[in-house]
Amino acid sequence: MLKINKGDTKMKCPECNKGLKKIKIKIQDANTPVTSFQCGSCGYFEFEEKEIGKAIEEIKLKEMPLKIKQKIIKLSQDRLGMYFNRDVVRSLDLKSGEDIFVSIPDKNHIVLKIDNR
Ligand SMILES: [Zn+2]
Repeated sequence: MLKINKGDTKMKCPECNKGLKKIKIKIQDANTPVTSFQCGSCGYFEFEEKEIGKAIEEIKLKEMPLKIKQKIIKLSQDRLGMYFNRDVVRSLDLKSGEDIFVSIPDKNHIVLKIDNR
C-alpha cells in the first residue's frame, strides 16, 4: 500500500531538532505521490501541505464524482445546447465569458477544458 523512496535530509525536526527525512509516499486512491518529512529519532511526521491537500482532493473525486443528468435543449433551429447546473458552476467557479475547449475523445464523451487552468 505504501511505497516509500528514501530522500534527502534538509528540514529539522521541531520536536528534537534532528534532520527530517524527506520521503515520497504513495497514498492509496490518490494519483500524486505525497512528500512527507519524518524524524528517525522521535517519530515526528508531517506531510507537505499542498501535496496532501491535492491527494485528498483526488481521493474525494474518486469517491464522489459529480454526475448530473441533464437534457440537451434546442436553442434555435439546428442549434442545440445545454446549461451548466448551479453545482457545476459553483464547483468549477465558472464565469460568464470564460473560454472553454471542447474535445470529443469518443462517441460517448464530451470533455470541456477551461482555458488557462
Ligand atoms: Zn524528532
